[in-house]
Amino acid sequence: MPKPFQVGEVSVQRVIDMEGPEFAPHALLPDATPEALEPYLEWLIPRFIDPTSGQLILAIQTYVVRTRHHTILIDTCVGEDKERHFQPDWNMRSGTRYLADLAAAGVRPEEVDFVMCSHLHPDHVGWNTRLVDGRWVPTFPNAKYVFAREEWEFWEPKFRRDPKKFGDGAGLDSVLPIVEAGRAVMVEGDHRIDDHVHLEPTPGHTPGHVAIRIAGSGGGSGGDERAVMTGDLIHSVLQCRHPEWCSVACFDKDRARATRRRILEESAEEGTLMMTAHFPSPSIGHAVREGEGFRFAYREGEG
Ligand SMILES: [Zn+2]
Repeated sequence: MPKPFQVGEVSVQRVIDMEGPEFAPHALLPDATPEALEPYLEWLIPRFIDPTSGQLILAIQTYVVRTRHHTILIDTCVGEDKERHFQPDWNMRSGTRYLADLAAAGVRPEEVDFVMCSHLHPDHVGWNTRLVDGRWVPTFPNAKYVFAREEWEFWEPKFRRDPKKFGDGAGLDSVLPIVEAGRAVMVEGDHRIDDHVHLEPTPGHTPGHVAIRIAGSGGGSGGDERAVMTGDLIHSVLQCRHPEWCSVACFDKDRARATRRRILEESAEEGTLMMTAHFPSPSIGHAVREGEGFRFAYREGEG
């Protein structure tokens, strides 16, 4: 169970839904061919690439953010009982530790004030809902679920038209039930939750993708006083070395590249802590310039 860490006066803790080998590198990042990876294998294996399967090791996790005002969850992973066809180990999961781990982190579902989703892909919305008596109900009954309006407007017609094709069913079981329960709030891409937490538009992976900014002091000074939860603007440390490498799922690759490079440069130059969605545990650290790209320095002291 990951320990909490501080961003200034804001406490943050990761709760992991899944972590392990997930995709062949080139299946997620088409540029990550065996030839392209050859120079990096020495440090990629075993931390980032599983030596048995050859697959990328990815975490899928929620960041629990506690400010003086609010308890906030950022991204809600894969969830349980969800029918998924594209990724077999996301299909019809049950008996996971997620809610018990949230409880161990001191979070009771009814105490969550805000649930925020960086974007509306299935591995970022799953625990929005759970199945009760055959119906999808909000897992966090008193929370406002904050969705970027642009993201919602992109996906809504697709979710309604062909929910199996678009989002692999996630719209139907994890997004639309939140809207129908009256728990969703559609906001602008730069929406502010409180004096510590706000959204920032980071388009590319999806049209309305947002990063979530944390200002530790409420004023936003440097270093680990500032953090950004990066969602899927970056998936793998390989994209630190090669910010130009996009995932297969990126909607607008040129914008995704520009967004990724901008966030990496900021982390390297201003010391903004990157809280990544999918890097293996402990998932948080800083970009450091190296050659044309960057390397990722995990934050010291994290297990
Ligand atoms: Zn993702």
